[in-house]
Amino acid sequence: MRALVALMISLAAALLPPAAKPQPQPWRPRHIEERVQVPSYFNPATNPAQSEKPLFRFGLIADVQYADKDARGIRRYRESAVSLQQCVAELNRHPLAFSVNLGDLIDGNGMASRADLAYILKLLDPLKARLYHVIGNHCLAIDRPELLRMLHLKNTYYAFQKSGWRFLVLDGMDVSVASPPGSRESEQAKQYLQKDPKLPDYNGAIGAKQMAWLREQLSSAKRSNQKAVVFCHHPVLPAGGNDDVVLWNYQDVLHVLENSGCVVAYVCGHYHPGSYAEQNGIHHVTIPGMVESPEKSNRFAIVSVFRDSLQIQGFGTVPSRVLRLGPAREIAVIPRFGPIQAELLGSVIP
Ligand SMILES: [Zn+2]
Repeated sequence: MRALVALMISLAAALLPPAAKPQPQPWRPRHIEERVQVPSYFNPATNPAQSEKPLFRFGLIADVQYADKDARGIRRYRESAVSLQQCVAELNRHPLAFSVNLGDLIDGNGMASRADLAYILKLLDPLKARLYHVIGNHCLAIDRPELLRMLHLKNTYYAFQKSGWRFLVLDGMDVSVASPPGSRESEQAKQYLQKDPKLPDYNGAIGAKQMAWLREQLSSAKRSNQKAVVFCHHPVLPAGGNDDVVLWNYQDVLHVLENSGCVVAYVCGHYHPGSYAEQNGIHHVTIPGMVESPEKSNRFAIVSVFRDSLQIQGFGTVPSRVLRLGPAREIAVIPRFGPIQAELLGSVIP
């Protein structure tokens, strides 16, 4: 009997047409359908403290740094597009008021930079919630006017409001080597670099005009009894003990934020390993860079805004955190376990 079955199988195989040889395909992201694991802390069924409904939620993405070029160390430029697709699919499963791209959507790829950005913006298109862009140093591989046009931005720093909260987006490359030549900002950048030639050129400063705008926005928020959250690509606290990544004038900016009486959180990217610190009532959160997501993992977050806390739900290797508002203090951290080794190898050069 067994011999007969074997004979029939070999006869059937002989009758089938030969299998087509797999053809090499050009690289393109595949659609990932599996869901990223949600930390149990954020599951109302397992955590009764979650029964209160948030005022609203928003998504956070940092340092996608996509480029159609080969990986360098743990920066997997092409795979970052796959991570982004997975992130967009997951964000669309949540009722978000908006999402924020914390800068560096592209790595910069010479003449291909524009095509890289166009490609990544197409991947962001399906996002259901409105997306606000923050300018990063790598974004400026494309000229400012062209970058603004592609991101549909009128200005690189701006404010928006939601349910009595004010959100401020800063341009950390305002005064930098990428300031428009001949501008007041470009002159200020030269002065900074003359004073301290060791200042990293991948960082920049908040210029005088933007600083005046920031002060005005914060005093207006304070008068309106609003809580403010500030988004910028660059940190203002030496992240992970590393002061190579902060704004050139981080101390001035910190002074303004800490004296405003309304800023509850400063959220940034740029430092790929990510970090958290609290100083003088302000939570400083650095979202880890997506381009360094360990294999089969990801890096993005959703923030649920409550009257008395911000609850960060981390996806992939991003830690989840509960941040209490005034007096500011972190009340819980739920580290994500995964390829921790890859995290520790994270490059600190943005
Ligand atoms: Zn950066």
